[in-house]
Amino acid sequence: MKNSLDRLKLNQLSSFCEENPTNILALTKCKNFLLEFIDTYNQNLPKVKTRGKKRRCVICSTLFYDLGRNSEICMRHIITPEDKSLLSLISKIDDYIERNTSDKIFVNDEWNVNDNLRSLFRYHPDIDNCWKFKACNQEIINNIFTKVDELICNDIIICTIPSHDPQKLNTGINLLTNLLAEKGRVDGSRILIRTKKIDKKGTGGVRDKSVDLDSIVANNLTMFQNKVVLLLDDVATSGNSMKACTEILLKNGAKRVSKLAIWKAGSHT
Ligand SMILES: [Zn+2]
Repeated sequence: MKNSLDRLKLNQLSSFCEENPTNILALTKCKNFLLEFIDTYNQNLPKVKTRGKKRRCVICSTLFYDLGRNSEICMRHIITPEDKSLLSLISKIDDYIERNTSDKIFVNDEWNVNDNLRSLFRYHPDIDNCWKFKACNQEIINNIFTKVDELICNDIIICTIPSHDPQKLNTGINLLTNLLAEKGRVDGSRILIRTKKIDKKGTGGVRDKSVDLDSIVANNLTMFQNKVVLLLDDVATSGNSMKACTEILLKNGAKRVSKLAIWKAGSHT
């Protein structure tokens, strides 16, 4: 079979795609090659069951029966349309393409490749500014606004992680979100709501994800159905609150959730 694909080539293609996650043209070419392979493979399936000829694998030189498929590679190296690595590469390519063609959150394409937690500053050398921000210092909020505004696209929804206290709505992060929304973005700072007061987490402290899952609900579901959402927080330490809120948003219909913390504390990434 001419259009055959072996494991070595599949691995090469996979590495190539991982190294070029924003190259739509190359990704599309790669996907088409894989789909063509599946097509050809299915068309060339032997009509009758046969043990086939005994052959020597061109990759590893092992003797094998080619089962009538005229394959030059053994079962260890052959790829079938049901192959897990093949299927996961195709869906990875689809994901890369989708992230590049629409639904961008960040201006920098590299930041859209996956939804890892992104951050602007390290908490430790910048503690003063962080606390001023939390205390709603307008000058700091304006400075941060300028930085974030340059990083994110204009037509997105911004959600914030609610304060530990349900009564506290005018937080630095919500004021920042109000400003960002003035540039045409959707202010989703009331989408995630704290239903009961929980213990305040000291910075550097880690809170279990279940505490947030049990005390936060999503509101205004139609606002973000099948849409990409930017989840914004002031300080992220373990990222557990981000994870909990991402889970809640996805469960309630968000298409994708990107995470941005202004400050990153601790060593976790
Ligand atoms: Zn082989």
